[in-house]
Parts: sequence; structure tokens; C-alpha cells
Amino acid sequence: MASAAVLWFGEVMSAVPLRNNKAAAPAIRSVTVLGATGSIGDSTMDLLRASRDRYQVEALTANTNVQGLAKLAKEFGARFAAVADPDRLTELKDALAGTRTECGAGESAVIEAAARPADWVMAAVSGAAGLKPALAAVDRGATVALANKECLVCAGDLFMQRAAKAGACILPADSEHNALFQALGSGNREELVRVIITASGGPFRTWASADIEQATLAQALKHPNWSMGQKITIDSASMMNKGLEVIEAACLFALAPEEIDVLVHPQSIIHGMVEFSDRSVVAQLGAPDMRTPIAHCLGWPDRIVGPAAKLDLAKIGQLTFEAPDFDRFPALRLAYDALRAGRGTTTVYNAANEVAVAAFIAGKIRFGAIARLVEATMEAWMRSGNLAPLTSADDAIAVDHNARNKAVTLLPQIALKAS
Ligand code: NDP
Repeated sequence: MASAAVLWFGEVMSAVPLRNNKAAAPAIRSVTVLGATGSIGDSTMDLLRASRDRYQVEALTANTNVQGLAKLAKEFGARFAAVADPDRLTELKDALAGTRTECGAGESAVIEAAARPADWVMAAVSGAAGLKPALAAVDRGATVALANKECLVCAGDLFMQRAAKAGACILPADSEHNALFQALGSGNREELVRVIITASGGPFRTWASADIEQATLAQALKHPNWSMGQKITIDSASMMNKGLEVIEAACLFALAPEEIDVLVHPQSIIHGMVEFSDRSVVAQLGAPDMRTPIAHCLGWPDRIVGPAAKLDLAKIGQLTFEAPDFDRFPALRLAYDALRAGRGTTTVYNAANEVAVAAFIAGKIRFGAIARLVEATMEAWMRSGNLAPLTSADDAIAVDHNARNKAVTLLPQIALKAS
């Protein structure tokens, strides 16, 4: 991964616009929101609602939530609405009867939504299902606000190369990467020493390993600072989310694993920092509210008015920091292992985690077994000798698929094994 990153660093630069090479934003922007009914989708629609005259909604998508999708499509006068579940087309058409919104259903309709000519696309489908739609937006050279980290974790090199080739502009919407995106503009590649991604530490930050092992779903869903979807909240508790973010940063900014540090910062006020060669460290701060990084992406290259609470550092009083604990949170260590192994291993890391989290939610495995299942699946993958660079989305999807199958076969023995 490190050498690949160095090789195509120039190409990556043309996809993530790090320096101030700002082009004028159109007066009225056409926008598409993939995953409009989710948590990120909701924050995005909230921002669009606040400036209705500046945006025309081209397309909106959901997985199964037809009523939520239809409500948004009506409110925003969307030209196209797509639901991924192929059996829900009639329900969607009925819900949008009498409007001018065209309807589509199935995976191909979600891809079509992304391919339609919007200037700006929010890629906020959850999971690996977001890859093909995001690639459809990238391939037509759109400006893509990327929330779906799985696109990069599953097929990072491929994704960034396709973006560079098509002249797409990738704007990091994840709060930590958006912070790095804002801070990186203070220097150039040669001057960069490292980036620092902060982590709240999640609900189990101070817990002993034995207690983390037995944590319940309700405990895992109690995030101290952020309000997010269920899957990402569980990933935050295991620190798998931070692992995914380490991989995401490596792909977005063409960094080697050694150039990415994680710092536990329980208040979640500093989202990311960049250290330069003169030892200046440039940080981005803000209240923990996803509408701030999304507003930065929506306004880019300008800044728009954001609805988050004003940051009051005097009231907060103290910002504290701790080193991450790789023993109590093995998912984070495994992310660095996957990044160093490269060639599909990060895809396996993500796929195995999706299986593990679903099994945990279904009560089939303990919380502590999530990382064990990921580790066992990665080991099986590395032993298989199948490691090769991913050259197409179908390659990435095949590795993802095989890893899921492997994780499912390993599940019973992991479920039985105590920590
Ligand atoms: P949610 O689960 O809240 O929403 C996911 C959205 O994707 C919904 O609109 C859902 O539709 C849709 N969707 C789910 N599966 C499919 C599918 N197979 N095909 C098409 N659409 C699908 O997730 P979040 O909004 O929390 O997260 C979205 C992405 O953003 C994730 O990759 C996450 O890691 C990332 N992210 C999220 C953050 C957050 O604060 N929430 C922060 C940073 C990154 P439906 O409603 O019908 O199920």
C-alpha cells in the first residue's frame, strides 16, 4: 500500500483538491444524495432545506425505506428517486403518484441515480453496497462528498485512480478526514510529517478487557458524543471505525501507515491534525456534529452557514488526550496489519467486520468476538495465497463476497471460543 501510494500520489492530488485551487461554485447546484434516508442523508437534507434556493435535487436513494424516500422526494421536488430493494417499485410509484419524480428500483436504479447529471453527490449508502453507486458518480467526473468509508476500505486504490482519471473531485465528509482535508492545505506533501486522527474512545474507553468482552448491544450503542447509525456506532465501540478511518486516510491522502497516528480525545472537539516538518501542528476543531463537515463539503470551494452549535472552549474547559490501547481494542491494530498487507486485505477486514457486527446484533457472538472473527478471517485470507491488487469493482466485490463467506464459516468456532 505504501509504495502504491507514493507511485500515484500526483494522481491522488488531482482527486482530493488539497491546495486552494478553487473554481467558482455554480450559483445553483444540482445535488444527489445516495442514502438520503440514513443518518448522514438526514444531516445533508437538513442543510439543503436551510438553503432551498441554492440547490436543485436531482436524485435521492434509499434501501427499503420507501415512505421516508418518497417524503423527501416530494419535499425537494427530486427528479428521480430510487429504492435498492427491487420489490418495492410499485410501493414507491404509489407513494409518488401525482408528482413529476421518476422512480426506479434495484441496485441498477441506485447506480442510475448516481450517474445522473448532478454537480454534487453525497455518497452515504452504508456498507460495501455503496461502492458501485459511488463509482458511477466518480466515473462521470462529479464532485463527490464521500461519507461511505467502505468504498475506500474495499477498493481504495481503484477508487482514487478512477476518480483521478475521470477528473472527479473527492471531498472527505467523514469528520476526521474532513479535518485533515482542511489542515493539509497549510503545507505540501514534502513538508508533511504525519496526520493525527482523533478518536473519542467510544463507550468502553475506560473499561477492562473482560468487561468489553461481555458488553451488551445496548451498551455498545451508547456513544458518548456522536449520534450516528447503528453499524457505525458499534464500530466506534470496538474502535473498528477508527481502524476503517486509518485505512480511509491512507487511501484519500496517499499516506503510508507510519504517517497516520490515532489519538484518543474523549471530548471529540479536535477532529484531526496535521504535523509539518517545521513541527507546526494544524488542527480543525468544532462541536461534534456531522453537519459541520457536510456543510464544508456542500459549500466547497466556499463556506456556507452551518447549523451546529458555536464552539465554546471556555465552557468545555478541558481537552484531554490518551494514547490508543491496541490490546483492549485489537480492531485498531488489525487495521494497520491489513493496510501493511494490502492487496485485498483491507477489503477482508471490512467484510469480516460487517458479518461480525450483524452476528453481534443478532446475539450470536459476544462483543469481544467481533475483532476475533475479523482477525481469523484476515489470517485465512493471508494464508490463502490469493493476494493480488484489485483492478476492478468486481474484483473488490468478489474478495468482499469470499471474505463474508469465510467469516460465516468461521463464526461458530469463534462464537464458542472464550477470549
Ligand atoms: P445509516 O444506516 O443511517 O443509513 C444508510 C443509508 O444507506 C440509508 O439511506 C439506507 O437506506 C441506505 N442503504 C443501506 N443499505 C443499502 C443498500 N444495500 N443499497 C442502497 N442503499 C442502502 O448509515 P449512516 O448514515 O450512519 O452512514 C452512511 C455511511 O457514512 C457509512 O458508510 C458510514 O460509515 C459513513 N459515516 C457515517 C457517519 C455518521 O455520523 N453516521 C460519520 C462518518 C461516516 P434505508 O434507510 O432504506 O435503510
